[in-house]
Amino acid sequence: MLDCAIIGGGPAGLTAGLYATRGGLKEVVMYEMGMPGGQITQSSEIENYPGVFREGLTGMELMEPWPAQCMHFGLKHEMKEVQRVRKTGKHFTVDLGSEQVEAKTVIVCTGSTPRRAGFKGEDEFFGRGVSTCATCDGFFYKDKEVAVLGGGDTALEEALYLANICSKVYVIHRRDSFRAAPPTVERAMKNEKIEFILNASIEEAFGDATGLQGIRIVFKDGREPLTLNVPGLFVFVGNNVNNKVLKQEDGSFLCKVNEQGEVIVDLKMHTSVPGLYAAGDIRIEAAKQVVCAAADGAVAGMQALNFVQELDA
Ligand code: FAD
Ligand code: NAP
Repeated sequence: MLDCAIIGGGPAGLTAGLYATRGGLKEVVMYEMGMPGGQITQSSEIENYPGVFREGLTGMELMEPWPAQCMHFGLKHEMKEVQRVRKTGKHFTVDLGSEQVEAKTVIVCTGSTPRRAGFKGEDEFFGRGVSTCATCDGFFYKDKEVAVLGGGDTALEEALYLANICSKVYVIHRRDSFRAAPPTVERAMKNEKIEFILNASIEEAFGDATGLQGIRIVFKDGREPLTLNVPGLFVFVGNNVNNKVLKQEDGSFLCKVNEQGEVIVDLKMHTSVPGLYAAGDIRIEAAKQVVCAAADGAVAGMQALNFVQELDA
């Protein structure tokens, strides 16, 4: 019987493991289907993790020391994909496909994945000009022109954020009406630095070994295609929440989730099921930043510790 099963080995999962083991839990296993580190390891440069700064620091370099620190206090890592978590009596059962493991508490830290739009060059230039995070990468384009793809709340809010940093922001959207809330649309329309390119889609992102150099845009109404020579393109076409492990056989979720499938938690990362916690990008209102995911993990790790101590008392 595990004291705590942690699912996902990104900043949230690793920090949950650090706090749970250092606080005294003995049997803590972090199930991470790949190498620990999480999605930040795809980033070519991170400069907003407090206290760790040098020019050109990659996400991989930032995360490299984290697992050793956690393992030092007793966290175990198993490179396995969790299929499902179920509540079985007083405890939880973690289904690993070939085996089932019982745990007193579970912390779900499986993150979320920004959707790809599907145009040519999107994958090739991802992390080299194509980004899904304005807070992370906007500053790299200070006083330069950038483009944003999408017409939802995220696209328009991030376009407004980028307009504070960049010299111009083109918003490319496939329709002429928006999913974003009307006041947000109005604010973006009024912003002098934002130019809308509507009924349009990106045909191709192009560049060279140094990164993105521009995008080719085509129009639904047969207008001449347009080329924008921008070094930065931000794609905000929705998000997939990695909540598969919480889905039960009957299609319901083990705990409460919102309409987007994000796990509803309180400020202590408690889900609607006692002993089950969610931390990091998978939860509601997540800031989707490494420092925030790590903080969530710390809170969840401490809560799991309290829960087990009370259960065993
Ligand atoms: P993740 O990091 O997504 O980790 C989740 C982990 O769970 C993954 O490793 C995955 O393999 C694992 N997993 C999922 N399902 C299962 C399963 N069923 N079984 C086992 N394991 C599973 N943030 C910043 O603060 N600054 C930046 O500059 C920055 N830049 C970024 C650049 C890029 C290109 C990307 C993609 C993200 C960036 N972010 C940045 C965001 C940051 O990476 C995330 O907010 C953060 O990693 C979230 O941490 P997490 O632990 O919640 O989830
Ligand atoms: P979203 O609402 O699903 O919007 C995605 C946008 O991307 C849509 O405009 C969509 O176009 C476009 N799109 C989708 N696939 C595309 C593709 N392949 N190519 C080009 N464009 C594509 O996603 P979101 O903006 O991330 O928001 C997700 C949820 O979070 C929403 O419920 C939103 O309201 C909420 N949210 C709220 C706030 C807030 O309240 N402040 C902030 C951010 C997000 P179509 O419109 O044509 O489908």
